[in-house]
Parts: sequence; C-alpha cells; structure tokens
Amino acid sequence: NHQILLASRPAAEPTPENFKLVEAPVPTAEELAEGQVLVRNHFLSLDPYMRGRMSDSKSYAEPQPLDAVMIGGTVGEVVASKHPRFDVGDAVVCMGGWQEYSLIDASQRGAITKVDTRQIPLSAYLGAVGMPGVTGWYGLVKIIEPKAGETVVVSAASGAVGSVVGQLAKARGCRVVGIAGGPDKCRYVTEELGFDACLDHKALTDLRSFSAALKAAAPNGIDGCFENVGGLGLDAVMLRMNAFGRIAFCGMIAGYSGQPIPMANPSLILVSRLKLQGFIVSEHPEVWPEAMQELGGMVATGRMKFRESVAEGIASAPEAFLGLLKGKNFGKQLVKLV
Ligand code: NDP
Repeated sequence: NHQILLASRPAAEPTPENFKLVEAPVPTAEELAEGQVLVRNHFLSLDPYMRGRMSDSKSYAEPQPLDAVMIGGTVGEVVASKHPRFDVGDAVVCMGGWQEYSLIDASQRGAITKVDTRQIPLSAYLGAVGMPGVTGWYGLVKIIEPKAGETVVVSAASGAVGSVVGQLAKARGCRVVGIAGGPDKCRYVTEELGFDACLDHKALTDLRSFSAALKAAAPNGIDGCFENVGGLGLDAVMLRMNAFGRIAFCGMIAGYSGQPIPMANPSLILVSRLKLQGFIVSEHPEVWPEAMQELGGMVATGRMKFRESVAEGIASAPEAFLGLLKGKNFGKQLVKLV
C-alpha cells in the first residue's frame, strides 16, 4: 500500500520535500475489525484546503499531523467489509487519504458513502457531484442568493468549484462573468461552460485595467461575487459592486502560502452596503441532499459540464498538488490510482 506522508511543514510555498512516499502492508480481510471497510481507492482528490492543513498556524481545522498519511477525499471500491451496509464491489466515496488502500470505520456517521455510478462517473463524486460542487452550490444559493437578471462574477472560474458556480448561476438566469488564468481557460469557460464572459487575470495586472475589463464584461454592475482567490481581482470586483451586492468568501488561494492579500478599499463595503460572508462547506451538512440532487441531476443529464486534470499514480500526487496551487491544473485535479 503506497502512501504519502507529510514529512515537514512548509515555511512559505510547499515543496516536494515536504512529502514522503512510503510503503505499508495492505490490510487483509481477516484483520478488519467489526464495522470496518477496506477500500481500494481509484481516484484521490487534490484540493487547495490541504495547503492549510500542512501548516500549524491558526485555522478552522486542526493541522495534519506530521508523519501521518496526508488527508484527502477518495473514491473507490470496497474490497473487504465487516459492516452490514457495505458489500465487496460497492462504489464509495470517503476520506481515504493519499494512499492506495484505506481502512475506514464505516460505523462513524458520514465516514463513507455509497455512490451510484450508473449515470455519473465515479470521479465526479470528488468534483461537481462532491465536496467542490456542494461548496459552489452553498456559496451561490445560500449566500449570494442570485435572482434572474443579476450579474454574478466567479474567480478561479474553470476550476472544480468555480465551474459549478457559474453553471448554477446561468441555470438561474444570471449574467455570469468568470475570471481565470490564461486564454485557454477563458475560452473553455465561455465556449464549453456557457459563461457570458471571462477575464484573463494574467493579462490584468493593475487595478485600473482589471476594473475597466469588469465594467465592459458586466455593464450593469455586479450583484454577486463568488470569491475563490482574493487580491487584485477582488479589489476590482468591489469597485464594480452594485448597492446591496453579496460576496461569498469561499477561498483566498492567492494568499495560501503567506502572500499578502490586503483589501485595497474596505470603505466600499459601507458605501455600496455590501454583504461579505465567509463559509466552510463541511459546516453545512444540512444542504447536502438538496445540493446533491441538483448537481447530480445536472451532471447525469449533461447540463453541468466539468473537466478533470488527472495525474497518474500515487507518487505523482505531491507535484500535482503543488501545481494546483499555481494554476497548472485545468479543472478538478485528481490522481488516478488504479
Ligand atoms: P481549482 O480547481 O479552482 O484550482 C485552483 C485554481 O486557483 C487554479 O487552477 C488557479 O486557477 C487558481 N489559482 C491558484 N493560485 C492562484 C493565484 N495565486 N492567483 C490567482 N489564482 C490562483 O480549485 P477548487 O475549485 O478546488 O477550489 C477553488 C477555491 O475554493 C479555493 O480557494 C479553495 O480553497 C476554495 N474552497 C473552499 C471551500 C470552503 O468550504 N470554503 C471548499 C472547497 C474549496 P487560474 O489558473 O484560473 O488562476
């Protein structure tokens, strides 16, 4: 069972040396305790929140322990079970970690969930029909509360969360403007995902040009912003927010390795009577059924598109993760394990 451990904590940007590849024996069926399930992981999800867990600074979650298997969501199949609700061959999603096989205590509520792969591919349960999808759904539906005809801006628009937000907002009759890194991502966001416009933040390096581009893309101003990045783009959006606009603070990835991301003009919160609300998706399990119903329905019927960047093999996980923090992924970043 190949596993990746957290070997050391990064001071600023993480490096491959912060991780360690080790091999451990795969548990046998006889070794399972009552209630345990052994999962052969097919895909590992790489997510920006893992950067926070690598540090031991104050956060909403406990840090990842050193020399322990890196935490992470996985999808796979049950290969041995001592729990009555799980059978060998079941497709499941769980927090399996950065490893090929995971021993899960299925008696713990929510630790492992069976998934239906007849109309939805297994990997999508780590993306559009999983934690990132529900994140997009929560921030848009519960915080931004968009009305038809309003304009919504989404940063990291081609990514796992952003792509869902924009397509949900389009389905609600909004004008949707994405922000993404580079012309290929922007083309995908408008042509494949159906956003009305997409700005390339790599070509917009000062506040004046960023806000002018937003003015052109959102001529009626901005009513809702789903913020995944922070920094210059957020400052530009705030300048263009309409009165009583809502900003859902989902992520601040531009600052995850300690880069300063000050807010240039907080007085706009007052002047434009803005609502700014941060949220952590795992604190809202109550929305999961409703969100999953909409997301699953849209994916199964092709009304929700998504794209994946797939690294091959557990040993590729650290590099793929470091790439995610630099925008090298294009869509949901996964590691294929089988
Ligand atoms: P993505 O698939 O969007 O991948 C991350 C993307 O962020 C990159 O592709 C890149 O897109 C962009 N990015 C990375 N570094 C920078 C930078 N320095 N400046 C600008 N853009 C950058 O990831 P997810 O969809 O999984 O996550 C998106 C956001 O949602 C993250 O901030 C994450 O932390 C947050 N999140 C929050 C949750 C919550 O509960 N609050 C739950 C899940 C996710 P590009 O090339 O287009 O710039």
